[in-house]
Amino acid sequence: MDGAVKGHKKQHLIDPEICIRCNTCEATCPIGAVTHDDVNYVVDAEKCDACLDCISPCPTGAIDNWRVVAAPYSLEEQFGWLELPGQEELGPAAVVAEDALEADVGQLLAAAHAGAGGKAVAPASADKPQINLFRRSKPAMATVQGNFRITGADTESDVRHIVLGFGETQFPVLEGQSIGVVPPVTDPDGREHPVRLYSIASARDGEKRNANNIALTVKRVPGGLVSDWLCNLKVGDKVAVTGPFGATFLMPDDANANILMICTGTGSAPFRGFTERRRRAAPGGPGKLVMYFGARTPEELPYFGPLQKVPRSLLEQHLVFSRVPGAAKEYVQDRMRLHGESVARLLMQDATYIYICGLKGMESGVEEALADIARKHGLDWGRIKPVMRSQGRYHVETY
Ligand code: FAD
Repeated sequence: MDGAVKGHKKQHLIDPEICIRCNTCEATCPIGAVTHDDVNYVVDAEKCDACLDCISPCPTGAIDNWRVVAAPYSLEEQFGWLELPGQEELGPAAVVAEDALEADVGQLLAAAHAGAGGKAVAPASADKPQINLFRRSKPAMATVQGNFRITGADTESDVRHIVLGFGETQFPVLEGQSIGVVPPVTDPDGREHPVRLYSIASARDGEKRNANNIALTVKRVPGGLVSDWLCNLKVGDKVAVTGPFGATFLMPDDANANILMICTGTGSAPFRGFTERRRRAAPGGPGKLVMYFGARTPEELPYFGPLQKVPRSLLEQHLVFSRVPGAAKEYVQDRMRLHGESVARLLMQDATYIYICGLKGMESGVEEALADIARKHGLDWGRIKPVMRSQGRYHVETY
């Protein structure tokens, strides 16, 4: 571990006061790191690799507890707990170690995927992704090859298409994966900020084919540290990149797959990658690509201009706006209801995959629309969804 302070580790712990002893965590853990006695469920620090598979199935949140420790709590100590100990005072020099910061990426992804309502599973046909090839102690150094504004110049929403080249460094990615961007500065106390995740907006073989580069879609967040810095970068500037990350929110590698993509804002990034992959690998289908994409106005919808040039035979587009002067507000779920019959037809097919990506909070409206559409067409979304999820056909990534 090459962290700022060697010896400190982020330990995964279970809160005994909240845990209802339902055994879900122990049953979920793929490596047997969770165990129990008559009193407590506990995590073995020697085994736990912070894969986070146990986090979203836990019905109470008792499982999602972390302490930065110089020496991990033993199983015996944890068995004896009536309550979780607080975070130890680490002293000014005890900066959170690198492993702890890396574990944050897993937590970010777990939180982003929580809207799927259970353990995320990759599509069966998806290629095997490579993950965690580059860490913050040894990031891949990328060079900015382009930085273009893709929302109207007069709008408040500044979203950028940023192209990063990796030169001689191999940085293999699949559509749907994310990268980490290492913040360029430390905090006022000299501590490192956690990396920020950005979805890859290009196909696996590059923004430009075989050019060893990727594209990102980055929204400048007012007061945001990394997005603001990224959006200001010039061609030739360097970016320290970690990852790639993400082993489940992946595109099926199957030309028969119907892919229903529902997004807002920068949630469109992975779908740009999906569309480009289909265009390059299997432009004739037979699987359909269908996108419901919401923004306030056309000017604020990232890639509005380029999307007009994408053939409808490749991508069925529903661009939906909520703030066009003189027009009624419309959200993605409204448009999905309007096309309920064709959405229901997709729901009936085993070859259909659903992906929801964008702002946290969009899931509930979309879920309700899917449930309504299903009901209206004699289907039961409550039964369809868990089946789709367990087969890697229902995915949520919101942040
Ligand atoms: P931060 O510095 O993290 O700040 C975020 C907000 O908090 C700002 O509004 C800021 O003003 C406020 N804030 C910060 N510090 C304080 C403070 N001390 N007190 C009060 N308020 C404060 N984003 C994209 O643009 N494109 C993507 O493709 C994308 N993909 C993502 C994929 C995943 C899986 C996840 C989890 C996130 C993704 N994000 C994406 C979001 C991205 O990772 C960042 O969260 C986002 O860019 C904001 O980071 P930032 O450093 O600019 O803002």
